[in-house]
Amino acid sequence: AADLLAGETEGFIYSRDGHPNSDMLAKECKACHAAEEAAVTGSGMAALALALISQLKQGDHVVVSHQLYGRTLGLFTTEAARCGIDSTVVDTCDLASVDRVIHDKTRIVITETIANPMLQVADIGGLAEIAHACHAQLLIDNTFASPVVCRPLELGADLVVESMTKIMNGHSDVILGCLCGNTASWDRVPLAASTWGLFASPHSCWLSLRGMATMGLRVGQATRTAREIAERLHGHPALSELHYPGLPDNPCHGLAQQQFSKISGDDCYGNMITFRLAGDVELVNKFIYTLSPEIPFCPSLGDLKTTISHPESTNHRELSSSRRQELGIHPGTIRLSIGIEPADDIFAQLQKGLTAIAPSA
Ligand code: PLP
Repeated sequence: AADLLAGETEGFIYSRDGHPNSDMLAKECKACHAAEEAAVTGSGMAALALALISQLKQGDHVVVSHQLYGRTLGLFTTEAARCGIDSTVVDTCDLASVDRVIHDKTRIVITETIANPMLQVADIGGLAEIAHACHAQLLIDNTFASPVVCRPLELGADLVVESMTKIMNGHSDVILGCLCGNTASWDRVPLAASTWGLFASPHSCWLSLRGMATMGLRVGQATRTAREIAERLHGHPALSELHYPGLPDNPCHGLAQQQFSKISGDDCYGNMITFRLAGDVELVNKFIYTLSPEIPFCPSLGDLKTTISHPESTNHRELSSSRRQELGIHPGTIRLSIGIEPADDIFAQLQKGLTAIAPSA
């Protein structure tokens, strides 16, 4: 015990500091992000909190994407302010805006690879260049992509967070996160994670090791199907908008093609599709009820099954309606997380819902 506590022998002392299951999972996370270091945490939010408390201190400044997941936005603005950390919220897809607000006290620029729910793609290389010119780090939340679709560290990011709750675990039965990075950023990470109590439980890690074993297969299938579904929905008369980075007319298509991995030689663009039904909440409810139970309503994402969500009344409900409009979120906006079912089955369900709300379409 004395040798363990002195760090002279490798091993485990107390599960809050680490255990074999989290080491095995961290090894998988490192491999799939080509990272030198990884810490598995009790949730995606715990991984983001770990990035904040390990990398920032009073007097620092962060540049924050205006499209971040709501709790992350709150963490890096309101909660950060309580620790004396200043923040500026900008559209990180507009590199000139980031360049304008970054300054010598900025230590982190944070954005998401694929933003929720409009699926805009971040220019990771461009943001890394701007951040590094100010000696700041680029922190990417890669949850909507997963490491199968995008590996931000290879594109210039310094730190990557995943809510493993979603695509990486893939079975909707754990809450888990990970922070990946390189040794240069890692000094404070293990002690901060232990002191703030952010590490994950052995059981969640064990479940996630099972989920990760099929991640490549699941994401390969789901992204191929998502592309096919998006192509089949394209131009559908019941939809007034369709957002999917894999469609050639999507403004982020070029960037996505450049930054996202190929799977078995094919371009892949993720498993998320967002569209807008031309109608009000009543019509949206009818659509969602028609799809149920085959395509269940679920504000989370990344399950084996295809699920549907309504951003206005779930993830973005705390925003004012004018703010939602600015972000392009309307009562008719619907987000799909495509699963591993056959594309024809998923499309048949969608077609059933669309016919229910627009019989002539
Ligand atoms: N990042 C994104 C993009 C998310 O959508 C979420 C949750 O929905 C989180 C982080 C937080 O993850 P968790 O729920 O695992 O804490």
